[in-house]
Amino acid sequence: MEIEIWTGDITRLAVDAIVNAANERLLGGGGVDGAIHRAAGPDLLEECRTIGGCPTGEAVITGGYRLPARHVIHTVGPVWHGGAQGEAALLRACYRNCMALSDSHGLESIAFPAISTGVYGYPMRKAAEIAVSEVCAYADKTVRRVIFACFDEAGTAVYSEVLQ
Ligand code: ADP
Repeated sequence: MEIEIWTGDITRLAVDAIVNAANERLLGGGGVDGAIHRAAGPDLLEECRTIGGCPTGEAVITGGYRLPARHVIHTVGPVWHGGAQGEAALLRACYRNCMALSDSHGLESIAFPAISTGVYGYPMRKAAEIAVSEVCAYADKTVRRVIFACFDEAGTAVYSEVLQ
């Protein structure tokens, strides 16, 4: 499995699936969620409405609509409350469930944003360690290419360090 770090807007990536750091209602929001819904167009929201929601730590898959990506995998990361409220286990579950969904849909390439590290406040370094270790644990499945999409150079630097 190939792992890459890429800096920029995840909505531009032409992969089998991009991951959305969604909220439990799946009705769009700010940050990467807002960017994905804007780029995908209103049909994405329509499909999300039919799903009805997603608990923290779980993941659901939809079409990509106007995105260059074929699918969107929506996962709900934990809100950071200091680390003693099960945040790490929930964030691990997000990555694991996204990889498992990709696998069960035969997807080969997937791009992740840094789930929970924006408005939800998860420290970037701790989040990147979980992202890398959970993705590496899936090395022998159908997914061949994983891209960590970092929104800025600071995030890119953290992921580079962790990957080394
Ligand atoms: P959360 O609520 O899970 O914290 P956010 O969207 O607020 O989600 O932030 C998650 C991460 O996604 C942050 O590191 C943020 O900088 C990054 N981000 C925001 N917009 C984009 C985008 N268009 N492409 C890639 N990453 C993005």
